[in-house]
Amino acid sequence: MADYNPHEIEEKWQKYWEKENIFKVTEESEKPKYYLLEMFPYPTGRIHMGHVRNYSIGDVVARYKKMRGFNVLHPIGWDAFGMPAENAAIEHKTHPSSWTYDNIKYMRSQLKRMGFSYDWSREFATCDVNYYRFEQLIFLKMYEKGLVYRKQSWVNWCNRCQTVLANEQVEAGLCWRCGQEVTQKELEQWFFRITAYAEELLEYCDKLPGWPERVLTMQRNWIGKSEGAEIIFPLEDGKGEITVFTTRPDTLYGATFMSLAPEHPLCKELSKGTPQEQEVLQFIEKMKRQNIIQRTAEDVEKEGVFTGAYCINPVTQRKMPIYVANFVLMEYGTGAVMAVPTHDQRDFEFAKKYNLPLAVVIQPPGEKLDPATMEAAYVDDGIMVNSNQFDGMSNREAMEKITEYLESIQKGKKAVSYRLRDWGISRQRYWGAPIPIIYCDDCGIVPVPEKDLPVELPLDLEMIETGQSPLRYSPDFINTTCPKCSRPARRETDTMDTFVESSWYFARYACPHFQEGPLEKKKVDYWMPVDQYIGGIEHAILHLLYARFFTKVLRDLGMLSQDEPFTNLLTQGMVRKETTRCAKHGWLYPQEVKDGKCALCGTPVEIGRTEKMSKSKKNVVDPDELIDRYGADTIRLFCLFASPPEKDLDWSDQGVEGAFRFLRRVWRMVHNNLNTIKNVRPYQGKGNLPEELKNLRRKTHQTIRKVTEDIEERFHFNTAISAIMELVNTIYQLDLNSIDSPFRSEVLREAIETTIILLSPIAPHIAEELWFTLGYKESVSKRDWPQYDPEAAKAEEMVIVIQVNGKLRSRITVPVDASEEEIKASAQNDAKIKEWIKGKTIAKVVFVPRKLVNLVIK
Ligand SMILES: [Zn+2]
Ligand SMILES: [Zn+2]
Ligand SMILES: [Zn+2]
Repeated sequence: MADYNPHEIEEKWQKYWEKENIFKVTEESEKPKYYLLEMFPYPTGRIHMGHVRNYSIGDVVARYKKMRGFNVLHPIGWDAFGMPAENAAIEHKTHPSSWTYDNIKYMRSQLKRMGFSYDWSREFATCDVNYYRFEQLIFLKMYEKGLVYRKQSWVNWCNRCQTVLANEQVEAGLCWRCGQEVTQKELEQWFFRITAYAEELLEYCDKLPGWPERVLTMQRNWIGKSEGAEIIFPLEDGKGEITVFTTRPDTLYGATFMSLAPEHPLCKELSKGTPQEQEVLQFIEKMKRQNIIQRTAEDVEKEGVFTGAYCINPVTQRKMPIYVANFVLMEYGTGAVMAVPTHDQRDFEFAKKYNLPLAVVIQPPGEKLDPATMEAAYVDDGIMVNSNQFDGMSNREAMEKITEYLESIQKGKKAVSYRLRDWGISRQRYWGAPIPIIYCDDCGIVPVPEKDLPVELPLDLEMIETGQSPLRYSPDFINTTCPKCSRPARRETDTMDTFVESSWYFARYACPHFQEGPLEKKKVDYWMPVDQYIGGIEHAILHLLYARFFTKVLRDLGMLSQDEPFTNLLTQGMVRKETTRCAKHGWLYPQEVKDGKCALCGTPVEIGRTEKMSKSKKNVVDPDELIDRYGADTIRLFCLFASPPEKDLDWSDQGVEGAFRFLRRVWRMVHNNLNTIKNVRPYQGKGNLPEELKNLRRKTHQTIRKVTEDIEERFHFNTAISAIMELVNTIYQLDLNSIDSPFRSEVLREAIETTIILLSPIAPHIAEELWFTLGYKESVSKRDWPQYDPEAAKAEEMVIVIQVNGKLRSRITVPVDASEEEIKASAQNDAKIKEWIKGKTIAKVVFVPRKLVNLVIK
C-alpha cells in the first residue's frame, strides 16, 4: 500500500472537478438554491492565512449544502481597484493594471491549489471594463433619481494617500488604509444619498435574525437615530435665525448661549466687520488642522471664541452670546448647539472656562442644585423649575409639552436626526472607476449619456511619484465635448470609492456575462439574496452597510427584487500567531528562528504576544509553503479544527502536524481494511448484530448526527471533526478477527464510507481519492449527505436499581452516559418510587455508579 502523499492526489482531483464541471451551476435545477459567498479578496499578490481560513469555512458549507441537495452557487472574484495597486506601481515602476492582473493570476493558482469548490466560470475582477461600465450606468440611474449629488463640503483628507476618506474610513482619527492622521479639507465632492435610506436601513436591522447581534448593534449605532426637537433661535439683529436639533427640549429654559461648529457658515458671517473677526478666522483655521476625532474627544479641552453676535432664546427671550466651539460638529444635527451648561457636561466645561451664565431648570428628586456650587452638569431626570408653565412637571413629560408649545408659537417642531451622513464617493485617485460626468462652461454638470458608456480608464498613463492621479494631467482623458451643446468640455477626473464596487458584486455573480445591463433580473432573482455570507468583523459598518444600501437602491431601480443582500452573516475571527523578536534584528519571521535563537546572529529570541498575523510583525506563515509541505487538505483541516469560526485561531505548528497525522491515519484505515470491505455493500440495517458491531454502528450513526448538527446549526466544524476522529478511533479499536458475524464487512464498510463522506467537505482531495479507492466512479460530492438512523444512534442503556432505605423498590433504564444528576432525578421520578417517598423528606441520596440509587427517607 502506498502511504498518504497529498502531492500525488490533490492536483489530480482539482483537475477532475474542473473538467467535470462539478461545481458549475445554472438556474435550471429542480433543487432549491443556496448562495454561499465569502467576501472577495483584494489582489495584493499572495493569499494569506486569513483568506485560507475564510474560504475553507465557506468551502465546507458549500460542499455540505450541495450534498444536502441544494443547487449551490459558490463564486469568486477580485476586488481589484484601489490604492495599493497605485502605490505598488509607483514603487515598482510598473502599471496598476499589470500589477493587479499579475497578482490575480498568481492568487487564482493559489486558490485552485486549495481545492475550493468555486464556479470559476463566473469569475471577474472589478477593474474589468465589463464590470465598471455597469457601475457607471448605476451611477447615472442614481443621478436621475436624485440619489447622487455634488456639493462643496468639508472632507476627511489623508495627505499620504492624497485622497478623501469617508467617515467610515477614518479610524480613531487615522486613515484606515495607511494610518496617517486625517485632516479636514473643503472640496467639491460627489455624494450618494444613503441618508434617504437611513430609516429603512435601521428598520431592517430588526429583520436580520441571521446576523450577529454585534454587527447589527454597530450598524444601529452608526445610523444613530435620535428623536427630539428642532428649535429656532432668532438672531438679535433680526436678520436671520439659527436652527438647532436637540434631544433635550426639556432644558430649553436653561439655554444661556449658542455654540456653532467652526465649519458653520454663520461663523464668518456673524463676525464679519466686528472686532472679533480676526480671532474667529484664526480659530477656524486652527480647527481645520485638527481632525474630528481629536476635536471631539471627551477629554479634550473645550475651547472657542465669541463671534460678537447674539441670538434670542425663543421662550425666555434671553440674549444668548454666539460662540464658535471646537466640540461642535457641522456633521451632526445642524452644526449649532443650544448650550445648557447646567444640564450638559461639555456646555458646563465651556461655560466655566468663559464665565458664561448658568441657569438650573431641572432639580434632582430631593435635592436643590445651586449654580454657584455645581461642579458638574446634572444630566439625569428630575422636576422642572424656572420654566414658567412647565414648572413642577417631570422633565420627561416636559420634553413633549415644550415641543408642542414651540410648535404653537412656530419656533420649533418634533424632529428626528441621524448620525449617518451621505456617502462621499469622490476619490482623487487614478485606479478606480471614472465618475461618468462632464463639466461644460455653458451647460454646467452634464452626465455622460448612457450610449457613451463606458468612460474607460486609460491604461497608457504613467504613475506620478506623489500619488496624484495622472488623470488630472491627461488632456486626452479630460478634453471632450459637451453632450448637450457639443462645445469643448472637461471630464470629471475623480474616480469612485472602491467600496462602490464591493456594494453590488454579489448580485453580478448571478449573471457575470450579461451585456445588456448591470443585472439580469431573472437570474438575480433566482440566486439572490446570498444565503450565507462570510467575512471579517472589520467590515461590520463600511462594506456591509454600503452593500445593504445598494441593494435597496437597485431594488428601487427595478434591477432586483430583494430588500436585503445577505440573509445570514458569519464573521470569522482572526488568525493569530506568536511574535518573535531579536534584540539586534527586530521582528523575525518564523523561519528566521532556529532552536529559540535568531538565525542571523545567534541571540536568544524574545517570544512576544500572540497577535493577528501581519507582515509588519513578521508573524506570518505562507500558505504556499504549507501546501508544499503538507498538502491543502491538512491546512484546511487544521484551520477548521483549531477553533470555531467566529473565534480567533491561534496558529500552532504542532496542530498542523497533528492534522496531517490524522489524515494519514484515515488513509491507512481505508487501505488496511480494503480487502475486507472492497467488494461488499454497506450494511443496510437488517439482520442481527453482535454487541461489537452494534457498538460500531451506534458510533457511526451518532457521528453522522453530531457532524450534521454541528455544521447545520452552528458551523462548529471543530467539534464535528473531533467526532470524526472518535469514529476513526473506534474503527481502529475494532478487533475484526474476533467477531463472528456475516455482517462484519458490511458494518465496517458502512463505518468507513461514512468517515469518508463526512470528511469530504473538509478534506475533499483525500476523501475523493479514498472514495474512488472504494470502487466508486463518481465524485463523492455528488453523493447525498448521509441520514442517521435514530434507532442505531440511540445511546447504549443500563439498568439501575433503586432502593428506598436500603430495600429494592424499582429499576430504571438510563443511557450509559447519563450523569449522576440525571440518574438521581430519574430515580425520584419513577412512578413506583414516587409512591414510596410521597410526603416524606429525602434525607440523603446514595449513588453507586452504574449500579444503584438508594434514597434515605424520614
Ligand atoms: Zn492614508
Ligand atoms: Zn454644454
Ligand atoms: Zn538577530
